[in-house]
Amino acid sequence: MQSKTIVVLGGGVGGLIVANELRRRLSHDHRITLVEKNAQHAFAPSFLWLMTGDRRPEQISREVRQLVHKGVELLHGEARGIDLAAHRVETSTGSVTYDFLVVALGAELAPDSIPGLAESAQTFYTCDGAAKLRTALQNFGGGKIAIVVAGLPFKCPAAPYEGAMLIVDLFQRRGLRDKVDLHLFTPESLPMPVAGPELGNAVKKMVEDRGITFHPLQKLTEVNPATRTISFEGKESFAYDLLVAVPPHRSPQVVRDAGLANQGGWVPVDSATLATKDESVYAIGDITALPLPGRWKPDVPLMLPKAGVFAHAQALVVARRIADRIAGQAAGHTFSGEGYCMLEAGEHLAGFASGQFLAKPSPQIKLRQIGRSWHLGKVLFEKWWLATPGTKKDSLRLLMELGAKALRVPAVL
Ligand SMILES: Cc1cc2nc3c(=O)[nH]c(=O)nc-3n(C[C@H](O)[C@H](O)[C@H](O)COP(=O)(O)OP(=O)(O)OC[C@H]3O[C@@H](n4cnc5c(N)ncnc54)[C@H](O)[C@@H]3O)c2cc1C
Repeated sequence: MQSKTIVVLGGGVGGLIVANELRRRLSHDHRITLVEKNAQHAFAPSFLWLMTGDRRPEQISREVRQLVHKGVELLHGEARGIDLAAHRVETSTGSVTYDFLVVALGAELAPDSIPGLAESAQTFYTCDGAAKLRTALQNFGGGKIAIVVAGLPFKCPAAPYEGAMLIVDLFQRRGLRDKVDLHLFTPESLPMPVAGPELGNAVKKMVEDRGITFHPLQKLTEVNPATRTISFEGKESFAYDLLVAVPPHRSPQVVRDAGLANQGGWVPVDSATLATKDESVYAIGDITALPLPGRWKPDVPLMLPKAGVFAHAQALVVARRIADRIAGQAAGHTFSGEGYCMLEAGEHLAGFASGQFLAKPSPQIKLRQIGRSWHLGKVLFEKWWLATPGTKKDSLRLLMELGAKALRVPAVL
């Protein structure tokens, strides 16, 4: 069999899984190169616990090379150009050619795209940001906190709501709850709109039951750091004491330049196979644009949420399809759209939303009663994700599979 080279761009959730799964499935005649610009990988769901002081940065980070299986070549550098015709990627440390390319470059944060936002807002959307916000919250004696979703789409549709509930819990634990007035602003009409109105109203109730004021349909236009005021399109402005933002997201420039992206900058893919318009190139995770059946606003299709659970499942499908193609077999693995989310509510409790996001005529998502087991499931997943290959990873996987079976929920591993 002729030796093949598979290049994976981006060593985050999707990229790590696809590279490791390919290494497991292919003989060492085939090369797998993973291109990642950062030396460190941090587990994003734990940024919320970093913000509350329940984790330290070193507990939720690993060197990328620790998470990569033996036999995957790690190229530490930035992808700067993709030449589809020549099957070549230019990086900051040289060029690489490929037989198959997997684009897993995620979404970038663009706080600079809204005037005043970058210099005024804290965020729990990065590891450094969450650590800084933790100090700001520790020093906050009382006043108005505004949590603002500054643009659509954004990663993890539940995270702003979880963040708000965890901040309430934090001040409750410190005996300062009555000194803090918390407001959540979002361009969405309801929380997690892809999951439909029933689930959206249930999450809105969870938030409002904790005394958080929910402000839907608010499109942030600017922040005035001098007066500490946020302005919205066609709505009243709001004066804050502490501003926490989910910054606008955009796709990496290299993807927009490659001719793979749509007008919004995201890469359209086949919903079952994750194939792009180029037959040698797949795209997975946050960089993709995957329309959902039946969830249309006028002219704007809602997309599959940007979430690690989907990046992970898509990575397994793509690795298996590429391995089948190399072996000359019909590629049978497809992405089902099954997904779940543990929704942290504070007091070590979480809700659990799960279902079929690609179901027709529209996604079928159910929210289970909040409880401690969903929170423990999230902690267990964190431990599994950060365990390095060859350590206790297999026992953690077994524990999670047993837990998922007992709770009758999917185990996407
Ligand atoms: C606060 C927070 C909480 C979250 N909670 C959850 C949760 O509970 N459940 C869930 O499912 N999801 C959650 N997510 C979302 C989840 O983290 C992302 O959806 C997931 O990481 C997407 O995986 P990806 O592989 O597409 O992108 P990423 O994991 O972002 O990986 C992209 C990688 O590409 C690299 N890269 C980018 N550009 C270049 C370049 N030019 N050259 C080389 N490398 C490059 C980046 O450094 C990065 O490592 C959360 C996110 C946040 C911020």
